Amino acid sequence: MPFDKLYLKVVCSICKGTRMFNHGHHDPHRPHRWKTCPYCDSNGLTVIEATADAIIKFIENTDVSARQRLKQKLAEIESEE
Ligand SMILES: [Zn+2]
Repeated sequence: MPFDKLYLKVVCSICKGTRMFNHGHHDPHRPHRWKTCPYCDSNGLTVIEATADAIIKFIENTDVSARQRLKQKLAEIESEE
């Protein structure tokens, strides 16, 4: 199996996506933000493990051809079991 978990990018729960963090360095080009929250990326996002409900919601938002491929794959998996 190439991977064992799926992940989501969500707003950082430490800085609430502001990048403001105690002991961080101020960014003079974006005065409402700070340079370094150590827990998220430059967009204030962090990665968490996707729950089964989040995966279902993702599948609900895919197009018809992606859902068709998923159905075929699920049928293959079920026939192997
Ligand atoms: Zn953060």
